[in-house]
Amino acid sequence: MTWIWWILKSLKTEIKIVLATLVVFIFLPAISVVVVAASGIQLVGDALASLNPVTHLIEIFDTKGNKIGDVSVTTNWPTRGYVSDEFGTFDAFRQELGLGKHTGIDIANRNGLYGEPVTPFMQGTVMRVDMVDDDACGINVKLRHDYNITSTYCHLYQAVNLPKDTPVKPGDVIGYMGSTGASTGAHTHLQVAIYDIPVNPRIFLVGEPEASSVTIPTF
Ligand SMILES: [Zn+2]
Repeated sequence: MTWIWWILKSLKTEIKIVLATLVVFIFLPAISVVVVAASGIQLVGDALASLNPVTHLIEIFDTKGNKIGDVSVTTNWPTRGYVSDEFGTFDAFRQELGLGKHTGIDIANRNGLYGEPVTPFMQGTVMRVDMVDDDACGINVKLRHDYNITSTYCHLYQAVNLPKDTPVKPGDVIGYMGSTGASTGAHTHLQVAIYDIPVNPRIFLVGEPEASSVTIPTF
């Protein structure tokens, strides 16, 4: 990449402006798509899952708007700690880093300590255990649930190496809180999606997570 830098340095300002404009135009469609997708997440998500105020069940819809099932609300937060970032936030650092809106909910350890066990927020089966810290989600586990619902638990210090399709339920340990991937401190990013479209996990989760009991690092 050094040669690109060298060319840029030796170019006249006018040519630099022309080049910069060209780059913006080339990437404009991609930028627009990202912006539209980010602002559309909340609207689309709300149409896929909503709480019925009469039955107190969460109704799940397919992408055509047909109801495909009911799910009970749960108090099974996937880990202990406190909610440090809600779904759908779009803070300055996200804008600066070119990230979209927050696609999940963050549960963090107040003392920045690793090791709080992470457990499924509802019963399901293992879709993927990613033990390699090579993307924004870091070491993570993805689970499949009924009605095309999935849940992903990111930034783990360590994932339990469960084979694909292993049935799991709340209480089973699938990993431990850490800070792998794009993370600045010990937390678990819980992402819940329907048809791979992120929805607000608070639709399913009532109350707040239990306070963490980890006072010294587990690792
Ligand atoms: Zn997050």
